[in-house]
Amino acid sequence: MRQAFRSSILHCLSDPGEAANSSAIEYFEDGLLVVEDGHVLQAGDAAVLLPQLPAETRAIDYRGKLIVPGFVDCHVHFPQLDIIASYGEQLLDWLHRYAYPAEARFADPDYAREVANVFVEQLLVNGTTTALVFGTVHPHSADAIFEAAAARDMRLIAGKVLMDCNCPAGLRDEAAGGIAESRALIERWHGKGRLGYAITPRFALTSTPSQLEAAGQLAAEYPDVWVHTHLAENRDEVDEIARRYPERSSYLDVYDHFGLLRERSVFAHCLHMSDSDRSSMAARGGAAAFCPTSNLFLGSGLFDLSAMRAAGVRCGLGTDVGGGTSLSLLRTASEAYKVLHLQEHTLPATRALYLATLGAAEALYLDDRIGNFLPGKEADFVVLDASGSDLAGRRVAAAGTVDEALFAMIMLGDDRHVSATYVRGRQPLSG
Ligand SMILES: [Zn+2]
Repeated sequence: MRQAFRSSILHCLSDPGEAANSSAIEYFEDGLLVVEDGHVLQAGDAAVLLPQLPAETRAIDYRGKLIVPGFVDCHVHFPQLDIIASYGEQLLDWLHRYAYPAEARFADPDYAREVANVFVEQLLVNGTTTALVFGTVHPHSADAIFEAAAARDMRLIAGKVLMDCNCPAGLRDEAAGGIAESRALIERWHGKGRLGYAITPRFALTSTPSQLEAAGQLAAEYPDVWVHTHLAENRDEVDEIARRYPERSSYLDVYDHFGLLRERSVFAHCLHMSDSDRSSMAARGGAAAFCPTSNLFLGSGLFDLSAMRAAGVRCGLGTDVGGGTSLSLLRTASEAYKVLHLQEHTLPATRALYLATLGAAEALYLDDRIGNFLPGKEADFVVLDASGSDLAGRRVAAAGTVDEALFAMIMLGDDRHVSATYVRGRQPLSG
């Protein structure tokens, strides 16, 4: 079936950078996005494309709104949905006080399924069509999130957590058992439809060296699966890693030593690291998830996007709920702008869009499938509507350029401004 969506259309062809390079984007004020069988046929000016459409094309009119590619969340914990916005602690205390008790409830598979469905619906409400997701230590947590995504035809990557030390007994696996469970989940889910598996050691303090080593061996066995973990989020955490691994040159070097730094490795946070770490991350094809709402909320630190991109590291935005405070990539991009301001850098609106779409797709090695509207890409997209709130509607109406309008939309926007979310050309049904 061929469909044509008429609206303003904006997408990125590459990273606009700090200078907001306009050749990195394409904008069609009165645009048409033509979709067939869930894939993009073409995006362009309506005046040019409309006369060429076959008569049976189904036309959907979104004029007055803005279509952008579906948002991609590079780091989020679905089991922490119900502890979002929990008061008061930095990372290591916060994990024990809030995150671990919440994750312990996932021993109940029915509860895991219920939260997974709510979580996936919340992603779509916020315009997020792809996410890289932490489960809990329970293998059925991964089953639950994959089932919820598959029911809506979403492109989603997830994994069961590996965690065999420094955590409550009920959330602890053991090195060999956790790896066997991960292997079974890879065989069950990886490459099934739009789903992908991520080997997911929580972070280097909650896995023994033998578990990290086994995780690296599993990654070597399955080169096309993802690796998903946390890196250098909090100073106390970094200090503890240095005490535990005095023979390693850095936190990143610990992961590298165990075979966990490679293409399709995604590291959340990456706040406290050196230029030589950034260079080796870039050279090895690892990627960073920039999680500004979480970094501010937990008082963790400021992500240095300029240094990361200068080193050539792939970067995308992550919400990191429940340490993060919103599932909205618009709100996340708004906080990213402020984090960069504090470091005397800036984040043009088009670069923020890049980090939430094409940049994130590059970080996940999915840019051949999603991230913009080049012909043949999967037709995942969001219809943004400034009039979702009176103030944003007024502000965007007064904007003189698309950059100004997009910037205002990012600063003021949230799920109220997502008019519709499409996954492979269709609006997924609830349930
Ligand atoms: Zn996280």
